[in-house]
Amino acid sequence: MNRIRILHSDVAGKIAAGEVILGPVSVVKELVENAVDAGATAVTVEVKGGGRESIRVTDNGSGIHPDDVLMAIQKHATSKIASSEDMERIASLGFRGEALPSIAAVSHITVKTRAKGQEEGCVLEQDGATYAVKPAGLPDGTTVLAENLFYNVPARLKFLKSAAAEGAAVSDLMGRLALSSPEISFKYIANGKLQFQSPGTGLTDAIIAVYGKDIPARLLEFCAKAGEIQIAGHISNPNYLFKTSKNQTFVVNRRYVRSKAIADALKHAYGEQLLMAHFPFAILHFTIPLHRVDVNVHPGKTTIRIDDEAELLALLDAAVRDALSGGRIPAMDFSKNTDNLKNRWVCQNETQYAPACRTGPSDTYAEQMSADGRFVIDSPLRFKEDDLDDFALEASAPLTIKPEKVVENQQHFSLSDMAEYKIIGQLFGTYIVVEAGDVVYIIDQHAAHERMNYERMKSAETLLPQQLLLPYALRLSQNDHDFLIQNADFLCDMGFELEDFGGSTIKITALPLRGNQGDIGLLMEDVLELLRGYDRNDPVFRDKIVRRACRISIKAGESLSEEEMRLLVHELRDSDTVPVCPHGRPVAVVLTRAQLEKNFKRIV
Ligand code: ADP
Ligand code: MG
Repeated sequence: MNRIRILHSDVAGKIAAGEVILGPVSVVKELVENAVDAGATAVTVEVKGGGRESIRVTDNGSGIHPDDVLMAIQKHATSKIASSEDMERIASLGFRGEALPSIAAVSHITVKTRAKGQEEGCVLEQDGATYAVKPAGLPDGTTVLAENLFYNVPARLKFLKSAAAEGAAVSDLMGRLALSSPEISFKYIANGKLQFQSPGTGLTDAIIAVYGKDIPARLLEFCAKAGEIQIAGHISNPNYLFKTSKNQTFVVNRRYVRSKAIADALKHAYGEQLLMAHFPFAILHFTIPLHRVDVNVHPGKTTIRIDDEAELLALLDAAVRDALSGGRIPAMDFSKNTDNLKNRWVCQNETQYAPACRTGPSDTYAEQMSADGRFVIDSPLRFKEDDLDDFALEASAPLTIKPEKVVENQQHFSLSDMAEYKIIGQLFGTYIVVEAGDVVYIIDQHAAHERMNYERMKSAETLLPQQLLLPYALRLSQNDHDFLIQNADFLCDMGFELEDFGGSTIKITALPLRGNQGDIGLLMEDVLELLRGYDRNDPVFRDKIVRRACRISIKAGESLSEEEMRLLVHELRDSDTVPVCPHGRPVAVVLTRAQLEKNFKRIV
């Protein structure tokens, strides 16, 4: 660990201002973050009275140099950043230099620490109005004890919740911290009783420590990567859901964060597989380049801003969909259109639902009290979330409606199942219809082409220029013209060939991708913007250009020759790719012969 310095006022002034310590939870969070930043492999947290009486955090990390201990409890004293530039790439959990002074200001604080390589440790203790540091024989690492929180701030003390409630919040936080740093062994003790201990041997073991040994079997595990973004996730089967979102933990670069955008994207990806008013279990670890994450948004550091969050959310969406279907395409579901399927939904807390027996339009639903006194809704339709919302709206209190019978198992297919196939033709100038065995694949030509182009380009060392049949004359402002010409060599390496055409016009002769040429102008506008906005050596930049270029793939509405269709289907079949485009839309849907025969009543 670096030595501690007081931040220059310029840097300190840029730090999101506000109270750091709001209660026991924030003390525990800040102290554990310090232990993690100190490279600890074992952290013990002990609280008494829900943390109101005392909080002790012990780690086996780097320790604090004896000459720095007094400084550590001063405002804006930190070993983690030094300059404004450091704030652009924060690799540590802490960086504000405010936790220890804030804790010291509102509690009785004791710090025992021995830095690695030092002969002995030292103890910092309150001594009247000041602090004294005395040498002491100690093991490597640091223990911080904070007692009598808010003893000197009665207004704050008044707002603390009961010991039980504060303790429950600390307990919840401890679980999330153990899930956020699964390579660290956490021991959590409340009022002298061990609550849990994680072994520090990876996420699955941390999940077992926090939630119990039966949980992993109910989870789907996935890993997804696009450019420099990576997501490792454990999410629940659609039949293992909760009524609150409390079993969702999002971690960005080892930091536990809250994010409505991520929660919404997750929900969206489950789609209709999610029962009304229910939430999946999810632990999602995101790895994002440091410069794309701004953690200096709020003193609590759990709210962050992510540059180009849409890209991350699209990857999450594709990965979750993929995990839920095992990378396979579900057979299309026609059951909504059949009238022989009875679905029954049972209201669990029927006493809260006022209306007596009532019947809706007979072709949609019928609500009634069943013989055993339960409130049931029968319908030939399979309800969607929104429909059920309408029922819930009429209830005087929160209403839980559960399906009594689970809809049948859907069959799933993968693109590689098209071993032997016959191209039937192009549908609506947009979809390629392929017969393979007893299955019909309906392929979205744009989504498929985009996915194939993306796969090819993202892994290519250099992007080869594809000559345009007709050069494209791009008229620009003088400024943009000059800028693009200056970057011509660099763009050439990315597969763009351009030359000065006189005046402020540029002639484009090749692009990294063949395809519809109609929107070259728009593509080049975006390329200009990306060139201006990004460091060219940044791999994210390359990924962005590639993604953008992919969009000029074959469009919907373009007629394709049999040979063009065959090439695309062939490539798709052999690609081993996820069946979604780089923006998360499906590449294909599947219709089975059995479903057709059922609908024509050839089979029942
Ligand atoms: P920050 O974490 O933002 O730097 P803190 O007030 O939390 O600020 O801590 C101040 C400094 O004290 C840290 O930068 C670090 O050098 C040192 N420190 C605090 N806790 C520990 C610990 N558990 N182990 C090693 N060093 C620590
Ligand atoms: Mg800190």
